[in-house]
Amino acid sequence: MDYKRIVVPERGEKIKVQDGKLAVPDNPILGYIEGDGIGPDITRACLRVWDAAVEKAYGGKRKVHWCEIFMGEKAGGIYDGDYFPAESLAALKDLIVSIKGPLTTPVGGGFRSLNVSLRQELDLYACVRPVKHYPGVPSPLIDPGKVDVVIFRENSEDVYSGIEYQTGTPENEKLARFLRQEMGVDFFEDAGLGIKPISPFATKRLVRKAIQYAIDHDRESVTLVHKGNIMKYTEGAFRNWGYEVARDEFGEQTITEEELYSKHGGKRPGNKVVINDRIADIIFQLMLLRPAEFDVLATMNLNGDYLSDAVAAEVGGMGIAPGANMADHVAVFEATHGTAPKYAGMDKVNPGSLLFSGVMMLEYIGWNEAADLISHAYSDTVAEKIVTYDFARLMQGATEVPTSGFADAVIDRIMGDIDLAAKAQERITAIEKDRQEREARRVEHPFEEMEVSGRTPTTVGDIMTRMPITVKSGTRVNDAMRVMREHGISSVLIEPGDDGLWAIMTQRDIVSRIVHANRSPANVVCDEIATKPLVTVPVDMSLYDCSSQMLESNIRRVVVAQNNVPIGIVSDTDLFRNVEEFGWLPE
Ligand code: NAP
Repeated sequence: MDYKRIVVPERGEKIKVQDGKLAVPDNPILGYIEGDGIGPDITRACLRVWDAAVEKAYGGKRKVHWCEIFMGEKAGGIYDGDYFPAESLAALKDLIVSIKGPLTTPVGGGFRSLNVSLRQELDLYACVRPVKHYPGVPSPLIDPGKVDVVIFRENSEDVYSGIEYQTGTPENEKLARFLRQEMGVDFFEDAGLGIKPISPFATKRLVRKAIQYAIDHDRESVTLVHKGNIMKYTEGAFRNWGYEVARDEFGEQTITEEELYSKHGGKRPGNKVVINDRIADIIFQLMLLRPAEFDVLATMNLNGDYLSDAVAAEVGGMGIAPGANMADHVAVFEATHGTAPKYAGMDKVNPGSLLFSGVMMLEYIGWNEAADLISHAYSDTVAEKIVTYDFARLMQGATEVPTSGFADAVIDRIMGDIDLAAKAQERITAIEKDRQEREARRVEHPFEEMEVSGRTPTTVGDIMTRMPITVKSGTRVNDAMRVMREHGISSVLIEPGDDGLWAIMTQRDIVSRIVHANRSPANVVCDEIATKPLVTVPVDMSLYDCSSQMLESNIRRVVVAQNNVPIGIVSDTDLFRNVEEFGWLPE
């Protein structure tokens, strides 16, 4: 394609897509948009760092040929006031991989946000935000090193679809009338109305990308984040469709968390990626309390919006958090902060967000060595307290440097002697140790792990009271009652007597067969008034089937048995508590 203003470097080659994968030459042309405000300062600094890392990693064998693409204020000057030129959009598609600085959203009628326009025009449906801590970066957490997640946030529907009707408008009134009269729902007068569409198409392409990422990067799990306990047909559907993609398209490489426990006793078979899900509010707690358990998170738009900023803040990374917006192949990497106009042209701000977006970009094209060099050089620089103003004000004894000075310091360290192989081994060893420790806990204390890890119970094994209290056959009722009182339980199991059958004695048996029958508990043995044989269920029975079993047998608790030996009890109260805490997602 012939461009009017964009000059495509002659010596570089374009990246192509072959057999559904990126084919990256050693001299790829990558696009960059400088951005507005502080954009030129940080872009200038980052281009130098990225080039230095590629040069050092590949000794001149590989080189990026940069192609400037115009958008925002700079485009306005070049293209007669057009902030969003069609040829820039065409170049982003054509070059496939690009990176951009922040863009001003012009205030006033008629302007859509350039960032939103870009996402919509290129159908960049996945917003990808890796969040991890770099030693030395100020953080509010005690152990921020445990945070290392990649958030895949859906970019095309949910609240981003923008289907809203303002109160008092004819459209709002028409929709309100339809909802009241045709759909039989009720809500307060004059409510503003919004629609939240969640489709299988958009959900599946997002979750597919997240799972593929986890497989490609040896991540342990993909967590589907949702509020399905309240909104079943949007948030709950996101969860269900997410599991469907995993099962239908990645059956060999993935396993559900439920299978991990029920079929594998908590041990992750091979390197299978564990697919699990967490309720949105619980994931916020967990990312503070148990961040090491999460690897890749797949979210709808609004949940992901909150979550990615909250998690980035945990590692002190709001100013340095990187991001990308991606379609199937086309990807635009970007600084996640804005244009900070008051610092424009001052060579002052932190280039970290754009720098790490570039690290993501290098990883995306498979140039991991260059990416790693930058990450390590960055850590070393910050660890030596050489930082820009924003970090300097949070640190004791820091050396404050300008944007360009920070880039110089990082380049010095890139050019020094970073032992990538040793650092990679250190990281692998730490990850492995952490995984083994967590696996050991899952194997030894599966129930406790489930409770603390926010997992939604699905089987009787998940909610049963373990190690039911038993008494010997022939025990007197008053002795068994004392045992029940001491343990605060409402039933007790009676071990098999001569007939070899287990039995259960409940409070209700005491009411009907001791009190109502007018007998003395000291003169009756449990076996006489207990129920036998037991109604038992297997440990992997679903909660729905368990409730059916209880209703059919007209009992308020069932015994969970393995090899004919009771291992737990599930009661009405357990089911009630579970629904109260986690809601109920219809199967
Ligand atoms: P902002 O530009 O992100 O700036 C807010 C504050 O964040 C700055 O004043 C500064 O804090 C800090 N900050 C941002 N970038 C920094 C950096 N690289 N290094 C150190 N500190 C940094 O947010 P805003 O003022 O709300 O938005 C300004 C413009 O940017 C708006 O036009 C908005 O639409 C646009 N925007 C664009 C994007 C994008 O292109 N992706 C994203 C967000 C906003 P201190 O004042 O405390 O030093």
